[in-house]
Amino acid sequence: MSSGRLGPGYIDVPEGAAPSAPALPPGGWTDLLVEGVTTDSRRVGKGQLFVPLTGDSFDGHDYVEAAFRQGAAAAFWSLDRELPAALAGKPLVLVEEPLEALQSLAAAYRSELRALIVGITGSNGKTTTKDMAAAALGSVMRVHKTAGNLNNHIGLPLTVLELPEDAEAAVLEMGMSGLREIALLTSIARPDIAIITNIGDAHLLQLGSREMITRAKLEIVEGLRPGGLLLVSADEPLIAAELGRMTLPAGAQVRTFGASPRSDWRAAGIEVGAQSCAFTVKAGPAAGFRLAAAPAKSPAAAAAPASVPAEASVSSSELHSAAAPAEAACESCFPQVRIEIPVPGVHNVHNALAAIAAATAVGVPAEAVASGLRSMQLTGMRIQPVAAACGAMILNDAYNANPTAVRAAVDLVAGLTGYRRKWIVLSDMRELGETEEELHRETGAYITPDKADAVLTCGELSAFTSAGAAEAFGGLAPGAVRHFDSQESLIHAIREELDPRDLVLVKGSRTMHMERVVEALQR
Ligand code: ATP
Ligand code: MG
Repeated sequence: MSSGRLGPGYIDVPEGAAPSAPALPPGGWTDLLVEGVTTDSRRVGKGQLFVPLTGDSFDGHDYVEAAFRQGAAAAFWSLDRELPAALAGKPLVLVEEPLEALQSLAAAYRSELRALIVGITGSNGKTTTKDMAAAALGSVMRVHKTAGNLNNHIGLPLTVLELPEDAEAAVLEMGMSGLREIALLTSIARPDIAIITNIGDAHLLQLGSREMITRAKLEIVEGLRPGGLLLVSADEPLIAAELGRMTLPAGAQVRTFGASPRSDWRAAGIEVGAQSCAFTVKAGPAAGFRLAAAPAKSPAAAAAPASVPAEASVSSSELHSAAAPAEAACESCFPQVRIEIPVPGVHNVHNALAAIAAATAVGVPAEAVASGLRSMQLTGMRIQPVAAACGAMILNDAYNANPTAVRAAVDLVAGLTGYRRKWIVLSDMRELGETEEELHRETGAYITPDKADAVLTCGELSAFTSAGAAEAFGGLAPGAVRHFDSQESLIHAIREELDPRDLVLVKGSRTMHMERVVEALQR
C-alpha cells in the first residue's frame, strides 16, 4: 500500500473511504504515516493500520491495545463500542463497521491505482488461472497477485491495499459461496479484465442450481470498467444465456475461450504429460481486441498493436448466436507459438487460454506470454506431481474437489499412458446440497475401466462414488473398486500394492484432508 498520512483531526484516506467520524482530537497527530493494513493482531507490523474484525468467537477490538504495543500506527474502532481508558489519545479512526470500512478503504485506494486489474472468478481453476495470468503478464510488467487463496471479502481488500503504487498489474482471485459476494468484490477491484473460468457444481448447496451459480459468477460484470474485457468459458452455455440478458458496461467487450470451435481462443495440438502440457493457440478473428484502457505506463501497452476494428468485436448478445465456427487461426492475433505449461490436464490448458487472452489484450507479445507461462509458479496441491516413497508418481490434487473438478482430473489420468497401474483415490465432495449422493454416484460412474485401473475411496459420501464406479467397472477386474472406512485403512491398502511404475491421483474436498494420504505415501 502507499503510505497514507494522518493529519490533525482526520485520517487521510482517499475520498470515498468509509472511515466516517474523525476520532482524532483537535491538534492530533500530524504526519502519522500508515504503511500497511492488517487484520491479524499477531502480525501487526510497525506503522500498520490495524482493522479489528469481529467473528463468532473473537472480537478484534480486544486486540487493539496489543496492536499499538506492537507498533501499529493507527487502528479502526467501531463507533458503537466504548473506548477503554488505555486507548485514550491513540490514533483511532471511528468507523461504523471495521470490515466495511476496510472494504471501502480498499475501493478508494484501488480508484487511485493505475495498475491493470485482472479479476478472476469461476467454479474451478481461479487460483490456477490467477497464477497463469500473473505469469503471462509478468514477463513484461510488474505484476502482483492474490497470495494463496485469499479471495474473499477480507482477503481481496487486503490484497488490494498491499499493491504498491507503482504496480503495473494485479491479478485478483474472487471467490464466493453465495449471491452478491462477487458483486462486492468486483465493486472493490473494478477490474479492467474479468475472467470466468467455468461454471461447475461447487456451492450448489448454497445456490441451489447451476443457473444461480452462473448468475453469481456474472456479478463480476457489475464492477468491470467501461471499455473493459470480459473473458468467459465458451464451453458453458449457461454463461452465454445469462449474458444475453445482461447489460455490459459501456464499451465493454466479451471474448470466449475453451474447447468449443466457436471460441475466440482455442488450443490445438494438445499434448498432456504427467507434469506438463503443450499446445498451440488458435485465435479467432475477434481475439485481436486490445484493451484501450491498458495502463499508460506499462511497457506492454506501449508495444501493443492497434486495436482491431470495432466491427470485429463480439457483443454479449452475439456470443451465443454466432453460428459459424471461428475461422482459420488469426496469426496476427496470436502467432503459432508453442505454449508449454508446467501443469498437467486439459483443464489447465483451458485455464491457460484465459490467461493468454488476458495478456494478449494488453499487448504482451506471444513469445513473452509463452516464456512467462513456461516458468510459472503454481500454488500447491493443484495436481502437484510428487514422488511416493516407493518411486510411484502421485498427482496431489487434494486442495479441493467437486464433480467438475474430479471429472477433469479423471480425464487427465485417462490420457496418461506408460504406467503399470493407474489409481484414482477419492474422498468426499462437500457443499453439494440435496443431490450430493447422486452427484457422488455419477462421478464414480464417470470412471470407466478405460480411464483407470483402480478406484479407491474413503469418506461417508464416497461410498456412493464407489458404488457408481463399481457399476462402471461392471464386475471387471474384481477388487479394482474399493471403499474404506478410514484414511488409515486406505493408506494401508495402497502401500501394500503400490509399485514404482504406478500413477496415483489423490483428490477430495479441503475438509477431507487428502493431503495426509499423499504425505503418508511419501514417507
Ligand atoms: P477454490 O474455489 O477452492 O479457490 P479454485 O477455483 O481457485 O478453487 P484451483 O485452486 O485453481 O481452483 O484448482 C482446484 C482444483 O480444481 C484443481 O486441483 C483441479 O482439480 C480443478 N480445476 C482447476 N481448473 C479447472 C477447470 N478449468 N475445470 C475443471 N476443474 C478444474
Ligand atoms: Mg482458489
